[in-house]
Amino acid sequence: MGLTDIRQKIDKAAKRAGRAASEISLIAVSKKQPDERVEAVLDQGHRVFGENRVQEAQDKWPAFRDRYGPCELHLIGPLQTNKARAAMELFDAIQVLDRLKLAKTLARLAQEIGRCPDLFVQVNTGEEDQKAGILPAEADSFISECRAMDLPLRGLMCIPPIDEEPALHFALLGKIAARNGIGELSMGMSGDFESAIAQGATHVRVGSAIFGDRPSD
Ligand SMILES: *Cc1c(COP(=O)(O)O)cnc(C)c1O
Repeated sequence: MGLTDIRQKIDKAAKRAGRAASEISLIAVSKKQPDERVEAVLDQGHRVFGENRVQEAQDKWPAFRDRYGPCELHLIGPLQTNKARAAMELFDAIQVLDRLKLAKTLARLAQEIGRCPDLFVQVNTGEEDQKAGILPAEADSFISECRAMDLPLRGLMCIPPIDEEPALHFALLGKIAARNGIGELSMGMSGDFESAIAQGATHVRVGSAIFGDRPSD
């Protein structure tokens, strides 16, 4: 595995789907990875990364950006409202917009700060109790409410249940996006990014297949 291998697999999956590989952004999920592995991927020229905790990203990324220049950072893990300002200052995209309270906080802070990262609504396609995200039946109204607040809604994101066929969840996310005129789809991880590309993913979030297994915490 590794970055080159994943890029090749993305190219092939795009070709099979009749899509241009350039439409697909590879988010290298660096959460919990040792610095030297992240540096190796930065040294290969990659500049798009995902982190799931604001604090961990704050500890790592300012120094990486100092050394390597601009890096596009995506927040892909739950966001508490008391960390929203820090997240807006650090991240280029927040993929975990999953409730009205957070939308209101982001809208207020966007006014104060004068800018807002790209936002993705997380949809709980499997309707799992333990998972964050808007339920599919509530997605259309939630998206309208976010738009009424002038939030820069760019995409939808989902994490399918581990024991179900992911393609069905990717297809559902694509349908919700299409009927709401939303262009970006963040879906697919190490085990299923090729299937996600077949279903229209514009962002795949790949961690262990690039960096190796995360050291257990
Ligand atoms: C950790 C994580 C990933 C990457 O998972 P891998 O299986 O290591 O590719 C992708 N998306 C989210 C939301 C994650 O938390």
